[in-house]
Amino acid sequence: MHELAITQNMLDLVLEQAKKAEARKVGRINLVIGEMTGVVDGCVQFYFGFLSEGTIAEKAALSFTVVPTTARCRGCDKLFKLKEFDWTCPYCQGNNMEIVAGQELFVESIEVE
Ligand SMILES: [Zn+2]
Repeated sequence: MHELAITQNMLDLVLEQAKKAEARKVGRINLVIGEMTGVVDGCVQFYFGFLSEGTIAEKAALSFTVVPTTARCRGCDKLFKLKEFDWTCPYCQGNNMEIVAGQELFVESIEVE
């Protein structure tokens, strides 16, 4: 249920940016969500619906870019998509790796009027 707090933070940020840009209305919000964050876009959409009510971001379209969980193997230096609970390199079967993508969570850009 942490989507509620995340959506509130996102909205605060968007409104702050929109204010700086002297926007009358926010038309679209582009979000980047890493798979590892476990954030469900449908939940964000739902919370955004009522949190944004009465703000200039009301009825703004949300656009989500989901970043797959990607790891780099420290053994063979290859990049691959990490499957849940499978921490084995598909190339060398090693299990020493680092996460290089999938933990993102940010507002990429907003479109205002
Ligand atoms: Zn490897």
